[in-house]
Amino acid sequence: MPPPRTRGTALRHRLAELRGPDVPAKALDARALAALAANPGCERRAILDGAGVNKAVLADALGSPSAFGQSQFAFMRGNAFEARVKADGGAELLRLVHEKLDPGAEPPTRARVPELTAVGPEGRAARTALALREATEAAAWTLLDHPMLALDVAGSPAFLEPDAVVVHPDGSWTVVEIKSFPMLDGSADPAKVGAAARQSAVYVLALEEVAARLGAEPEGRAGVEGVSARRPEGSSTVAPSTPAEAPRRRSAQDSVPVPQVRTRVLLVCPKDFSNLPTASAVDVRKQRAVTSRQLARLTRIEDIADTLPEGTCFAPDRPVAELTAAVESVPAAYAPECLAACELAFHCRDRSRASGAVTALGRSLRAELGDLTTIDEVLAAAHGEAGDPDDPAVAALRRAAELRAEALAYHPEGPHGDQGILGAHPEDPHSRQAVLGDARPEGAPCR
Ligand code: SF4
Repeated sequence: MPPPRTRGTALRHRLAELRGPDVPAKALDARALAALAANPGCERRAILDGAGVNKAVLADALGSPSAFGQSQFAFMRGNAFEARVKADGGAELLRLVHEKLDPGAEPPTRARVPELTAVGPEGRAARTALALREATEAAAWTLLDHPMLALDVAGSPAFLEPDAVVVHPDGSWTVVEIKSFPMLDGSADPAKVGAAARQSAVYVLALEEVAARLGAEPEGRAGVEGVSARRPEGSSTVAPSTPAEAPRRRSAQDSVPVPQVRTRVLLVCPKDFSNLPTASAVDVRKQRAVTSRQLARLTRIEDIADTLPEGTCFAPDRPVAELTAAVESVPAAYAPECLAACELAFHCRDRSRASGAVTALGRSLRAELGDLTTIDEVLAAAHGEAGDPDDPAVAALRRAAELRAEALAYHPEGPHGDQGILGAHPEDPHSRQAVLGDARPEGAPCR
């Protein structure tokens, strides 16, 4: 008789069924996690990412292909730059870490670069944890090149691979993010820096989980009390950034420093228009707190999986109608921000528009409209055909409609000119479409 399945095994089996037989799981990366955390109310994305579904392939199969991704040229340029930054055993990279983050420490004359290869992501994550512990105990500059970190996301592990993690002589850890966009006169595109900061914050959270586990190990000589594990915002959890701010804490038993994860990461970019590396320290405490809070709020994927009909499968070789029904069986929370963050954005936008959901017009407008969740409800409320007049949103819509009617009374084009949202009528499909934006040219999403 086979042994009884544990809850974890059952969930993995269920997620594999949802992904489809023989479909390999797509690993979550930090960029995807940062995007996932940016839309924590979307169960569709949570279950698809949790099951390792390749959403770009799924979007193709649904007939709404995504339109973003990195060009081959940019990919090769990024790889070449990263190789240059890490050349000579990471000498230049460590020099930058020392200069920007830890000038009080001894200069890195010779760095340790441990071997991190192992079989499978679990093996690599375990090897990384071991290397981090050894480096912390050795109290010497150490460069971990492409370590593997595991982060618990909605009940299942996500494996993440930062560009590098540096262990300082004081035993603290720094995330290094290497990007190929230029830093001009010491500053870079704020949007790109923000995206890099959100990505780095995910790595910081994953490192904090490693630090917590090392501190909890009986043989690990790093006491739990000083570990900067994930704790509520505002507590002393966020590891201070410099040794001056954070005196090295030692466990009471054996005086070995405990690992601290620095919340100032190092962003390395090409200097001006050259291929020379330059760097800047980026404080990711805010991004770390936001991401931590939003990841904790993600609905557990096992709860979502339990609500799906028997036989639901997202395998891209299924007939389109069946695949569409499977995707639609999971509630989504579409917002225009999805266009820059999720491969299913065009599919979800079409569905959101078809249902007349006001979220298709933006989260801020959605918040203003209170209980009015569809365009039809909004138009009916504005025209005085429905809605509670005491509702502030309904009252504001009616007042706006009156003002608009007054203005149009003096407009040379009269009531037939450009009518805007309040000029549309729920019974008129053309005006409704115009409100939803179908007539607008497509904006190519970017990442
Ligand atoms: S595009 Fe769809 S699946 Fe992706 S986050 Fe937005 S609503 Fe969710």
